[in-house]
Amino acid sequence: MKPHFPFSPTPVRAYPALSKALGVRLRVKHDDLFQDCGGGNKARKLQYIVKAALDAGHDAIVTTGGGQSNHVRATALMSARLGLRAIMVVQAVTPPRGGNLKLARLSGAELRFVKAEDTAAAMDAAMADLKKEGRNPYYLRGGGHCLEGAFAYHEAVAELRRETPPDFIVLASGTGATQAGLISGCRAFLPKTTVLGVSVARSNEKGSRAIGESLAELSLHMGSKDAAPPIRFDDSFMGEGYESAGPELLETIRWAALTEGLILDPTYTGKAFRGLREYAKNGTLPVDSDVLFWHTGGLLNLMASEAL
Ligand SMILES: *Cc1c(COP(=O)(O)O)cnc(C)c1O
Repeated sequence: MKPHFPFSPTPVRAYPALSKALGVRLRVKHDDLFQDCGGGNKARKLQYIVKAALDAGHDAIVTTGGGQSNHVRATALMSARLGLRAIMVVQAVTPPRGGNLKLARLSGAELRFVKAEDTAAAMDAAMADLKKEGRNPYYLRGGGHCLEGAFAYHEAVAELRRETPPDFIVLASGTGATQAGLISGCRAFLPKTTVLGVSVARSNEKGSRAIGESLAELSLHMGSKDAAPPIRFDDSFMGEGYESAGPELLETIRWAALTEGLILDPTYTGKAFRGLREYAKNGTLPVDSDVLFWHTGGLLNLMASEAL
């Protein structure tokens, strides 16, 4: 599996002031600065996903996401770049104007707004409509949750080979493809590194199961027979669920920006960083340990938020 367009590794940056405040050595892997389609983990996943879709002869894409979905934005922009017809099933009753949806709209993708429970039917209808047009549409699950998306993060770990290996990687975990890829990549390239996923929406049980399935799929693809590594997934910091932002979360976002200009968002990275901060306090991340925060994006979620 290969990316469609070659891309450069994203930067890794040390954060001395935050390190001092947290009592750990903090570096950030800036996938928020991934070079394509507005950046973030969805843009990195898409590089591998569109390659597979084009190789299989598809000429259109159907996918889905919430009203401020980074995945919808990245897919819409990538489709415009490749000249693919795209239908986005957006789970929002009132169409949002700003943030990710603004870019999705500007890209010319067809946006169909539905209630969350009508998503599957709307995806099927979009597939059928494109086939009627004579197209060969590619069905892409929400969040870019698929083998190629997880594989993108297996490969991403190789970008750290020239760095001091971190003791821990902390990230915001949603569908689990990113975390599964990082776990698999660490097994291959950084065997001493522990991956800590902070849930943005799912319970421990549901989240860990999805990561386990994604890991099994990756292992099968790569012919790896190693025992399944332990999955660390924590639902303690997700508030009331997806897109819910409590006062501690907002305070963490303000604190990171004020202390050292680190940009976080209330849907994803703010929750993960709140977890990291708590782990540094309670010893899950020991004093002076080497911690890499894998920044998955979210600037447009922050800009669309009215809470900050
Ligand atoms: C989608 C997303 C995540 C979660 O990624 P998964 O692979 O679904 O776990 C984390 N951060 C940001 C900014 C995202 O857009």
